[in-house]
Amino acid sequence: MENLNNNIDRSWIDKWNQPFIISGPCSAESEKQILETAHRLNSSYIQVFRAGIWKPRTKPNNFEGIGKKGLEWLHKVKKSTGLMIATEIANAEHIKLAISFGVDVLWIGARSTASPFTIQEIADALELEGEKNKIILVKNPIHPDIELWIGALERLLGKGIRKLGVIHRGFYTYKNSKYRNQPNWNLLLSLKDLIPRIPIICDPSHICGNKKGILDIAKKAYHFKCEGLMIESHCDPNHAWSDAQQQITPENLLEMLKELRNIEKCDPKNQRYLNSFRILIDELDENIIALLAERMNISKKLGTLKKDSDIAIFQPNRWKDIMKRSMNLGKSLGISEELLEGVFKLLHQESMKIQNQVK
Ligand code: PEP
Ligand code: MN
Repeated sequence: MENLNNNIDRSWIDKWNQPFIISGPCSAESEKQILETAHRLNSSYIQVFRAGIWKPRTKPNNFEGIGKKGLEWLHKVKKSTGLMIATEIANAEHIKLAISFGVDVLWIGARSTASPFTIQEIADALELEGEKNKIILVKNPIHPDIELWIGALERLLGKGIRKLGVIHRGFYTYKNSKYRNQPNWNLLLSLKDLIPRIPIICDPSHICGNKKGILDIAKKAYHFKCEGLMIESHCDPNHAWSDAQQQITPENLLEMLKELRNIEKCDPKNQRYLNSFRILIDELDENIIALLAERMNISKKLGTLKKDSDIAIFQPNRWKDIMKRSMNLGKSLGISEELLEGVFKLLHQESMKIQNQVK
């Protein structure tokens, strides 16, 4: 890990004022959409214009990207605005094409980071093309597997690619979450502990999955010392061909960035750590609430089953078992007996109440 940390070349991000901003549409759709979005984004506020050319969709029969012709449009943006341009690549062919159109920043999507074969193919192709100096940003894998994320960085570094960074786009959550992808800030902290020099760009758009939560996540990213933001913007977000719910107009983005610039003034540096702990607690509380909702939902189903089968709601042996198991587990994790007992008594009472209410 030390080798990885020491060999990261941070020059590509250190030369800019923070936060380093990447923005542009989820997908390139037409020349007009790309050029209009780029020109409405104020190039003094952002460093990189993004657009997906090849889109990895979870299900088939969705828009899978415009392909090569979108690279021509990106190239026009580069020429007319002076911005760097970025797109997602997932195989050797993508890399070859993106390079031939002067793409400055290549990012590896969450689904690709999860596949070591894909990452190896990408690392090999960059070496083959003589593109060791490209800026490569690795999105976190879909699932919260920090080793897979670091493994991808190691495979790239193994080929001499040193201008690396990561994009925090959140992690798969299967239900009851207000996020499209849960931030799991704690995991980001672990990554920072292991590779302190890695530049981190936060992607609030894919974490939220909606427009209204973006600013809040961007503020949180500041507290975790993320050095940059990738936020999707589109000239006509509501008619976007992919991720319409989470894209904002260039003007909205600029307003947001202005607000973020004030954050340091309202939030003295000594509060930054305190606030990051509060964010960690808030996320855990959100998870606890989601789990409580799930538990109570099962109680309701259990109530129906017991009623239909004429089984008594209160089962003393089962209750004793639950308490014993929970106490043991809690003890092994250093939780006080008093806390656990209180919590589980309340849970049990509520569960019985819900079961009794079943008609
Ligand atoms: C994207 O950035 O548009 C994208 C597809 O992201 P992710 O890989 O995070 O899903
Ligand atoms: Mn997207």
